[in-house]
Amino acid sequence: MNDSNGVIVVGGGIVGVTAAYWLAQKGRAVTLLDQFDVPNQWQASGDHLRAFRLTYGKDAFYTDMAVKALPLWLGLNAEWEDKILVQNGMLELATKTKGYEDQSYDVLKEMKLPVVKMSKDEVRRNYPMVNTRAIKYGLFHKDGGMIWAQRAVAAYAALAQRKGAKFRAQTRVTAVLHDKKSGIKGVKDATGKVWRGDAYLFAGGVWTPELLKDFRLPIKVTRQFQLYVRPPANRGRYRPEHFPVFAALPLGFYGFPLHIHGFLKVADHRKGPAGKPEPGSPREAPPAFEKKCRAFFRRYIPELADFTEFEGAVCHYDNTKDDDFILDRLPDAPNGFVAAGFSGHGFKFAPLVGKTMAEMIMGGKPDLNLHRFRLSRFRSRA
Ligand SMILES: Cc1cc2nc3c(=O)[nH]c(=O)nc-3n(C[C@H](O)[C@H](O)[C@H](O)COP(=O)(O)OP(=O)(O)OC[C@H]3O[C@@H](n4cnc5c(N)ncnc54)[C@H](O)[C@@H]3O)c2cc1C
Repeated sequence: MNDSNGVIVVGGGIVGVTAAYWLAQKGRAVTLLDQFDVPNQWQASGDHLRAFRLTYGKDAFYTDMAVKALPLWLGLNAEWEDKILVQNGMLELATKTKGYEDQSYDVLKEMKLPVVKMSKDEVRRNYPMVNTRAIKYGLFHKDGGMIWAQRAVAAYAALAQRKGAKFRAQTRVTAVLHDKKSGIKGVKDATGKVWRGDAYLFAGGVWTPELLKDFRLPIKVTRQFQLYVRPPANRGRYRPEHFPVFAALPLGFYGFPLHIHGFLKVADHRKGPAGKPEPGSPREAPPAFEKKCRAFFRRYIPELADFTEFEGAVCHYDNTKDDDFILDRLPDAPNGFVAAGFSGHGFKFAPLVGKTMAEMIMGGKPDLNLHRFRLSRFRSRA
């Protein structure tokens, strides 16, 4: 045990930095290690934008989690004096009734949260670029929006360090030293240095299964494709103040208004092919994905379909079988904790997840009910 390092956090993505922020906020010594810089282009948190939404179909548990995360994001906006979360609303294109969007509407209504079902006419009036013949209605919630992802990581990292946290970038953990008797005894880095702390949090994103290979976490990593597209016409009306985050999640597609160099982004939330971020692994989206995006636009936002300027990108999901996270202690290691398996939808919850992990590490009883995120759920289902 080495009090000077305090809690050792492995991973400087949005989960690791929010946990470090809350641990430091609660006066706990904390040392964060990352194999790259914080933020970095390889991490899932290292992109420009991530969507914030309250809508989760009939799954009120996640809607409730997003409601709990919202004031924490607004707290960051205030503390960092910058709009990291921009609530420009979320428009979901319902292609059928009695489906996912209807369920989301019912849950938000039930929870007395602002949400509207826009008729085709209303969609046409507000978002004339949408082909309303292809939809049943538009589901709009104003609390939804976009989070500047890399900026969020940088902000939480800076604030955590202001509160006393120590960050060590370019420090790759290559081994976790542990045994049944004493739990985690330390982590060894690529230089052979052993870092000892009084507790350990592993938030290594898609690298977590490898980092914790002795614990055999049931996480599968997939390659996820995104496309940055410059609207061929009427660019102004795709600005965030005129055009919200958009989605047709049952079809997989979602996207963001103009945000970087005059480009907007579209992506597919459905699981991609297996594959890990490795040096030299292709970072371009395949032509087939460009074709899929064109087809999506041609049907739902036709004037975007003939884009000529575009750039593909690849990122990675750390998937669990049920798409629920893993937020738990490690088996036979009472001083070891893991936060992983975010299955492509963890960013919006990160301040709440970070706070929860800090509470768990400090022996408190987290506000969040963690039953759904326990590791043992996989063993009982095996
Ligand atoms: C294409 C895409 C789109 C997404 N869209 C959304 C969205 O719209 N809304 C949403 O809520 N979520 C979204 N997500 C999910 C979200 O981005 C992730 O759940 C979140 O970023 C995970 O953060 P993390 O901190 O767990 O992992 P990461 O951000 O990947 O960070 C892990 C860090 O751990 C470090 N690390 C790993 N192993 C080691 C080691 N051995 N030694 C030292 N350091 C190590 C890595 O270098 C990395 O910096 C999306 C994800 C992707 C890929």
